[in-house]
Amino acid sequence: VEIPVLPDTLAASVPVAEYLDRLTAALGPHGFEPGNTQVALSICRDEMTQQLSHEVEMRWGPAFAIGGLGGFPSSGSTGWAACLSHVPDQGRGMLLAIGLAHIGVEPDGSTGTYHRPWMAGSAPTCGALGAILHSWHEELPGEDLSDHELHTLRTALEDAGGRPEDMLAATHVTARRILELLVDQISELEPWDRMDVAAFAGIQVHTPAGVGTGDRILHTGGGLLDARGLEEVDL
Ligand SMILES: [Zn+2]
Repeated sequence: VEIPVLPDTLAASVPVAEYLDRLTAALGPHGFEPGNTQVALSICRDEMTQQLSHEVEMRWGPAFAIGGLGGFPSSGSTGWAACLSHVPDQGRGMLLAIGLAHIGVEPDGSTGTYHRPWMAGSAPTCGALGAILHSWHEELPGEDLSDHELHTLRTALEDAGGRPEDMLAATHVTARRILELLVDQISELEPWDRMDVAAFAGIQVHTPAGVGTGDRILHTGGGLLDARGLEEVDL
């Protein structure tokens, strides 16, 4: 199956392997190596996203799963503390946080749904984001611990300025918010004396070329993070 023409705002996406190559090349000069780096991976729970974990782990070693629905970091400070405590401590350790929103692409190039080959029809992808776009006309029913990730996702989108109606637009807002949350949450723990930190965000693009194998990644932002804030690094 050929990859359809992608919308302009996803056109700069690259195959997963190329994205990871660029990340490795960009971070190498800053001392990030597989032997000294712990990855924190914040991707959606959807099975469509999970192939990426394996590809990241082939390069960087086992990754700490920090992500919840929509790709938002969902572990809370306890999860982050556990993750940070696993950063290699023989010499200066490195934390590499990667957070990704995700979106499906159909054979005709339309976005926001994906046809999983084992299903009769297409389904919203990201499903959590789709649910939120359908929930704007409803008020949040108060804090509901059984659905706290959806609350977090919806609130994060609203905080980013409005209620996007379109999946593609909402996915871009999600990627931007994921990076902001990675930066805020890691910075809160002030790990600077113990490790160097890099944080990157983007969008996993699921093309019809194959589940996992047809994925591309759009880099949307990120770089080196320290007490002064985020210093962007080009990929
Ligand atoms: Zn999802």
